[in-house]
Amino acid sequence: MTSDPGLRAEVSLARRLGISYKRLKGWEPVTTYTYDGDGRLVSSRPEVEWDETEQAWMSALDAYEASLCEHCGLPRDVCHAPTLEGRVKVPPPSRCHVHTAMLRAQNDRASYNQSVANKGGARMGQYDAALSWGFTLPEPATSVTPTSPARQR
Ligand SMILES: [Zn+2]
Repeated sequence: MTSDPGLRAEVSLARRLGISYKRLKGWEPVTTYTYDGDGRLVSSRPEVEWDETEQAWMSALDAYEASLCEHCGLPRDVCHAPTLEGRVKVPPPSRCHVHTAMLRAQNDRASYNQSVANKGGARMGQYDAALSWGFTLPEPATSVTPTSPARQR
């Protein structure tokens, strides 16, 4: 589980879907029917989906996730290794312009609420934590058609 990201992704997907790993891979239960001496059906029993192997896949995924560092998301035995100390490089951050715009709008609203409150206005922003914020992206830039070479007459 720790050394195979592809397997981990599949077991994780199975868990999100609420199905076993073997079912994700195409397994379907076979039902065994039992008949009495006169040919009448007396019982039917489908194969078990969550056998010990399937339980072990989910337990292994849980154990892997529990081994991850709460700060960086890497396995602790990697990011806490003494040999890594002082050798990690952090590149400059990138900015999410959507989140920035939403934070700016929320800040503007809070400033407005405060200015109204300072003038003795109504209690503003009391339930602002319950607001859902959306956004619109600009229209995609119109594509520029490359000019074709002038035709010869
Ligand atoms: Zn870490």
